[in-house]
Amino acid sequence: MMTIKERLTQIREKIEKAAQKAGRAPEEIKLLGASKTQPPEKIREAFEAGLSLFGENYVQEAKKKKEALKDLPITWHLIGYLQRNKAKDAVKIFHMIETIDRKVIASELAKRVQKLGKTLPVLIEVNVGGEETKAGVLPEDLPFLIEHVLSLKELKLSGLMTIPPYREDPEEVRPFFARLRELRDAMQEKFPEADLKELSMGMSHDFHIAIEEGATIVRVGTALFGPRPKKA
Ligand SMILES: *Cc1c(COP(=O)(O)O)cnc(C)c1O
Repeated sequence: MMTIKERLTQIREKIEKAAQKAGRAPEEIKLLGASKTQPPEKIREAFEAGLSLFGENYVQEAKKKKEALKDLPITWHLIGYLQRNKAKDAVKIFHMIETIDRKVIASELAKRVQKLGKTLPVLIEVNVGGEETKAGVLPEDLPFLIEHVLSLKELKLSGLMTIPPYREDPEEVRPFFARLRELRDAMQEKFPEADLKELSMGMSHDFHIAIEEGATIVRVGTALFGPRPKKA
């Protein structure tokens, strides 16, 4: 069994290789530890090995872990579906919400953030595969959602995120990553006032491909922590 520190070293090497292959600087790519169902001790171990960005899928779970790890300067992203009644807690816990997928949730977050007197960085989640069971805005609806988010001054739109359809062969996921980058480029042109620099895409088995296609945030869970426990 490898330690988290050893796994982290391997992942960083793979990030560097993929960046080199694509002619990109490895520093452009942020590694996010996808820590859902992992106990706080594992997150602490990863932090001590040099990782400070983590992503959680559930607001309640994140709240508990953040409390248990409050002595550490961790940056927390929400990478799971956000229910409207969790928005109030979410704005207090997370430094970025990566999963804006509808107007009502954007409006609700803006309202909650305003009360705290700050601005909240967000990404819009895009359903690039058009899968019925997946969250995320469909590509054809993306311009309308961007327009809405840009109208909310409490939110700072920073880019796009996607969870593409699963394929055994990561090469087959490449077109979906390319699609997100193309959408970003098109939207950046359409909305020059926005700063859509972040592309959050790529997980344990395909993050090297995502980096070749322009990812700036890769969300890695099992390759870093090992198999997920069933419950947190
Ligand atoms: C769980 C999860 C990941 C990480 O998945 P792994 O395959 O374990 O690397 C990344 N992004 C999201 C949104 C997730 O829910």
